[in-house]
Formats: sequence, C-alpha cells, structure tokens
Amino acid sequence: MLPYSILKRISPKTRYLVRYKHSPEHWKWDSIRKGLLGKRKYVAVINNYGDSEETMSNLEHMGAINMRTLFNLEKGYIQEELEKNKRKEDFIPESSHYRLYDNESQSGFKVEKEYDLHFPENLNIYCYEGDSESDFDSPKRGSTGVFNYYLMDGGSTLPVLALGLKPGHKVLDMCASPGGKSLLAIQTLYPDCVVSNDVSNSRLNRIQNVFDQFLYDFDEKWLKKERVKLTNIDGRCIMEDNFDRILVDVPCTTDRHSLHENDNNIFKPSRIKERLQLPELQRELLFHALKLVKKGGVVVYSTCSLSPIQNDGVVHMALRQIWEETNIEIVIKDLTPALIQSRSVFELADKKLLKFGHLVLPCLSQNYGPTYFCKLQKIN
Ligand code: SAM
Repeated sequence: MLPYSILKRISPKTRYLVRYKHSPEHWKWDSIRKGLLGKRKYVAVINNYGDSEETMSNLEHMGAINMRTLFNLEKGYIQEELEKNKRKEDFIPESSHYRLYDNESQSGFKVEKEYDLHFPENLNIYCYEGDSESDFDSPKRGSTGVFNYYLMDGGSTLPVLALGLKPGHKVLDMCASPGGKSLLAIQTLYPDCVVSNDVSNSRLNRIQNVFDQFLYDFDEKWLKKERVKLTNIDGRCIMEDNFDRILVDVPCTTDRHSLHENDNNIFKPSRIKERLQLPELQRELLFHALKLVKKGGVVVYSTCSLSPIQNDGVVHMALRQIWEETNIEIVIKDLTPALIQSRSVFELADKKLLKFGHLVLPCLSQNYGPTYFCKLQKIN
C-alpha cells in the first residue's frame, strides 16, 4: 500500500484505483486495467415472450454461441480430466465442508462446496467467443411487439444463476432497477412470483419500461404480468417475507461505469459522504435479506465493484451481525467447483484471494464485470 502522504495528493477516483493496484490481486492489475478501459462485452438474453426460436437461429447464424453449450462442453472436459485422474483435486476436494474462523467474534462460518451450477432449460443466453470482435445489434421488436433479446454485461448473469432458481419460487430482487437481473430471473420461466423493488421512484420507472418492452401476457404462458410486482421501498424496511430466493444487488461504486462517466460520478467530492457510507448501507441490506428469506432459502449478494470492502468485507460484517444478534444459521456456498464449467466464458479471480464470494475480473479477451457475488443459505 502507498503511504497516505502520497495517496491524499491524488484524486479520490485515482486513489481508489491505486489502492486496488496495491491489493493482493495487483499481479493481474495490468490486464484488469486494460479491460476496464477497453470495450465491455455484452451477452444477449433471449426473450421467451418474443420470437425466441427465430432469434436464436439468427444469432447462431451470426456466430454467437449459447452459453449453456459452452458450460456443457466444459462439463464434458472436466469429466474427461477426472476419468484420466488428472487435476482431481480441482474438482473433488477432500471435504465438501469447511469452517472459516473469525478472530474478532470467535465465531466460525460454515462453508459448503457446490459442484453444479444449474442452467435452467428455458434460459438461453448468447455470447461471442473470447477473442471475437463481434457485437450484438440493438434488439428488435418481433411479432408479439416485445424485444427479441436483452443485452447485459455477461458477469451479471452469474449472480442470478447462483440463486439456483426452481419452479414455483417466490423471488425478491431487493435493489432491482433498471431490472436486468429481475428480467433474467423471469426468463428462466421458473418463478411463481417476482417482486422487483427499488428505493428510487424514478429508477422504478426504468424497471416498468423494461418490463413493458420485454414481457407480454400470453393466455397460456408462464409468468403472468400480474405475478411480477414492482415495489418502491427502502430494502431495509421490506416487511413481506416468505421469499425462497433474494437477490441483493446493492448500490456500489460501479467501477467500470465510474471510470467512463463523469455525470453524477460517485467519486466526485460532493458524494464523498455517500461513498464512505456505502459499505454500511450494503451490510444493512444484506442483513435484512438474510432475516427475510425463508428457512432453507438462498440470498445472493452482488456488486459490480472490485473493492474488497464492498465485497467480502460487507459479507463478513453482515454474517458477524447475524451471529451476534440473531439465532439464524447461515451456510456460505463455495461455488468454486461449480464455476469451473464457466471458465471458457469468464475470467474469475483466484478463490484463494477471496474469503466468501467469487469475482468476475475484466480483461481484454473476456471483457465482462467486475461482478462480485456470494451465495448464502439460511439453514435455521
Ligand atoms: N439489479 C439491477 C440490475 O441488474 O439491473 C441493478 C441494481 S443497481 C446496482 C442498485 C440499485 O439499488 C439502484 O437502482 C438504487 O436506486 C437501488 N437502491 C439504493 N439504495 C437502496 C435501498 N436502500 N433499498 C433498495 N434499493 C436501493
């Protein structure tokens, strides 16, 4: 870490990046920096409420690949490597449970490894191969009047996949605007009810716009529009409970966006108080979600930041608060073995550098993220 005498002479934004450069991930910094400053990549989430078959065949014709196919290919390679008994320890660790000790609270956090990332059969996400320069065209309206696909940062798909959605689930997207991840959850065609919440009224309108542009009330089809509810509450005050899955995609320093956009940048001096209070707000949102979720249910915490404080730091603070103030029992899900199947699509940070979650790192060839996500299950 650079001495504070030097740090204080540079702008908050540069200071933040310099701090990151001197963090344990710094050996990848040059590649991350090039990625962050380079052209970000998108994936196309096929809209099941539009002309999905035709859209998929057009995209395949253009050279795009279904992410499920890439995940399945990797699963096949993993199987082969296992059969040859090579790199066995990467895929089958000696134990699927371990405990992380917390010196300050004397508590221990139970961790369970997960070996499979379920890719819902109706979810189709298209991407271009690593080094491809190809881009998706803007989405177009089809015969039902809705857009044929939704473009999003590929990294944003992993927190939703990590939720492990199943048919009939009641889902809360606590900080939902503009609604990309809610839409992705809906496109699995699994949930029975999706509540998309955001504290900002103007940003709630953005979710409504997205839903109007992408959802369509079929008579016979899956999730009816009325089963998608929009609410405008501070996530920390939501009273409705009984959720099977909660996504807590918190407000954060939005690192890639902050580098490119000056308007209302979170690093500008007038927003310093807000920026410094972010981890506290993030902890409160996650703590509340862990209380709201059903017994046996799952909470996924996510950010689009590289900041260790906003990522593992917040998870650590929320877990400690749960341990100190409630009788709730939480298990941290270590998705490392499951995420091996995503290795041809995403550049993930070495798990040894993260305590609780996983981090998609930007780089020129797989220029998604940053996306941090951590899966937590309420046992009791
Ligand atoms: N999940 C969204 C998506 O994938 O499209 C992006 C969410 S964005 C990172 C964070 C959102 O949190 C913002 O829309 C912001 O208005 C909202 N927010 C900030 N504070 C909140 C709070 N206390 N409760 C609920 N939402 C909040």
